[in-house]
Amino acid sequence: MAQQETDQRIDSGTSVAEPGDGFVVDTEDAEARELAYRERGTSRPITVVGNPVLHKECQDVTEFGDELAALIDDMFASQHTAEGVGLAANQIGVDRKVFIYDCPDDDGVRHVGVVCNPVLEELPPAERVLDDSNEGCLSVPTAYAALARPDYAVVRGQDAQGNPIRVKGTGYFARCLQHETDHLYGYLYIDRLSKRDRKDALRQMAENTPRYEVVPNA
Ligand SMILES: [Zn+2]
Repeated sequence: MAQQETDQRIDSGTSVAEPGDGFVVDTEDAEARELAYRERGTSRPITVVGNPVLHKECQDVTEFGDELAALIDDMFASQHTAEGVGLAANQIGVDRKVFIYDCPDDDGVRHVGVVCNPVLEELPPAERVLDDSNEGCLSVPTAYAALARPDYAVVRGQDAQGNPIRVKGTGYFARCLQHETDHLYGYLYIDRLSKRDRKDALRQMAENTPRYEVVPNA
């Protein structure tokens, strides 16, 4: 996912998740962990809307070995180059259900992590509060559009070693978890917009030049 249009201050350190609540702790050493991933990886160009790999469900991750670890390193390197806050494997052309994130939440706390085979948990209707902030995507370069989504999200899946994990997010990070999970099922955020807003997003993309390398569509 692309950065928010407005600048957001990022604190470091304080953890929202309390130990033992069943959620992965993804706030500790966020800066050092992100740096370690991307220093091992190689940045790759980003696929854009129209590339078939973005418009179908990706395959499940079944092998949690060196190949997956190398893919994750490349994803962090690519996300950094493109200045994103989240990236799905199909955004660098790889047909695997894995996404990464480096994203601030409602309190400005930075979250860094990896989710394989993600599934969004259904929220009870009473807990659904919609937030209609702007959203952007590295695969729809330079475009932004307002999109209503729940302001809290829980994703379950597996870490890079195959251990079961649950990740929870608020604010922009909640949006990120939903956006990246959508990618791995073949949906872009513009697929959730009205016809008119989708057209406007594609117009913004056509009129501007991305600040990072993209994979040309055939
Ligand atoms: Zn995206």
